[in-house]
Amino acid sequence: MRSIRSGICSQSIHGQSVRGFRSAGIATGTLLFFAALLVSGAAPEKHLSVYSSAANYSLPIVQRQAHEYVGLLELLEPLGRVSAKTDSPRWRLHYNNVLGEFTVGKSHARIQGRDADIAGKFVMENGRGLVPVACLGSLLPRFLGGPATLHEESGRLFIGSIATHFTAAVSPDDPSRLVFHFTAPVNPSVATEPGKLRLTFNREPVISPASPTLTFGSKTIPSATYFESNGGAEITVTTTLPLMASFSPDGRTITLAPPNAQPAATGAAGPGPAATGSSAATPSSNAAAAQSPTASPSASTPRRYFAIVDASHGGDDRGEALSPTLAEKDVTVAFARSLRRELENRGISTLVLRDSDANLSLDERAFFANTTHAAVYVAFHAASNGHGVRLYTALLPYGSEENRGPFRSWPTAQQASIPLSQAAAASVAAELRKEQIGVRTLTAPLRPLNNVVTAAIAVEVAPSASDISQLTSPDYQQLVASGVANGIVAIRAQLGAAP
Ligand SMILES: [Zn+2]
Repeated sequence: MRSIRSGICSQSIHGQSVRGFRSAGIATGTLLFFAALLVSGAAPEKHLSVYSSAANYSLPIVQRQAHEYVGLLELLEPLGRVSAKTDSPRWRLHYNNVLGEFTVGKSHARIQGRDADIAGKFVMENGRGLVPVACLGSLLPRFLGGPATLHEESGRLFIGSIATHFTAAVSPDDPSRLVFHFTAPVNPSVATEPGKLRLTFNREPVISPASPTLTFGSKTIPSATYFESNGGAEITVTTTLPLMASFSPDGRTITLAPPNAQPAATGAAGPGPAATGSSAATPSSNAAAAQSPTASPSASTPRRYFAIVDASHGGDDRGEALSPTLAEKDVTVAFARSLRRELENRGISTLVLRDSDANLSLDERAFFANTTHAAVYVAFHAASNGHGVRLYTALLPYGSEENRGPFRSWPTAQQASIPLSQAAAASVAAELRKEQIGVRTLTAPLRPLNNVVTAAIAVEVAPSASDISQLTSPDYQQLVASGVANGIVAIRAQLGAAP
């Protein structure tokens, strides 16, 4: 279990470990599904963004009976221990020690034996209980024992006191410089167009100032407006000059100023990957980093594979004990081999990285993935908790400035590929849903994803029902593998076009 400290299993979004990351000043989960859809150019589906101290994540919102609904189990799962039992038309959900009882077609539920109005009829589909989004603000506190704030219009849900506040003010000695202070680190994408600069927060629980319109009494930067929609928040700054954004190393301060007025001390990180618009907003150093070769050793490899499939754990590292007799390391190999079959059937050359019970370090796995110049890296994990599939992409530390210049640093090698990794995760998620497999997409500071230079995702498979033996069923393995393979095939051209 030596390498498990860096593996997905110990960094599960459940429980304490992610809280540890947060207090360590590293970002919590991100709303990548929304972001990835933007990257892939598809029309964004409606999503509910959930912000909590345990994880930030997003869930699809579905329309049922002219109301917006969301899966309750999927919503609660990252926050604690959940299990559900179907006894049609009844559905019983346990969250930690709280029991919720729902009945199909009824707009009242019982939580710990007490009546609760759920603002619409309860719906059950494929054993999944769906509740109206509108009831979450009142329903969730009954389960969680603490406050939950719903922004229903914009699809944002805040669990506990999680909001990030901000102030904005023009510098007293330079009216062309606007300084934002945030109460927690943020990492928005930055976009410019004539007369405007836009900061978009898809991952952070940023909330509106007292008034959504701020005026600064500056001729060059007259005002800014705050707006939120479909799970994200946006600040649009009006300006008569082209502005560039620079981020403080702690991620809590953003300074907007004309390019020639950048203070050297703030350590300008430049706009995020979504930056567009005037050349002044895109420092050339970022563009150079995105094009440059990696710092990783480039061993000569005889063959280029399109996909690298990694069976996590192995050898002495058994992974999670899924049952007294079932080790995760054996399940991951079975899924990896199944995915290779499915990909090769679709004409995609595939290498299974650990095709035996070998000990392979995380660095070695990343090294192989990088030196084979694969277009996509997929790591398999297996879990006994939860249902269906959790898809992870990497979450890098804030202020990762090591990647400027010609070399990428090993800890943040993934940085330039994150949009592509998120597009891959969104594509795989869409295909798995077509197979009726429950999916959530999440980010976590996972190795070796962080060290892989190409598109990289981790697929953590749990049984679709509570029967753990399903993980060893060839049918289930093939169902998941074919969904993942279809997702990769769907964005094959995009993956193959990456430098
Ligand atoms: Zn694992």
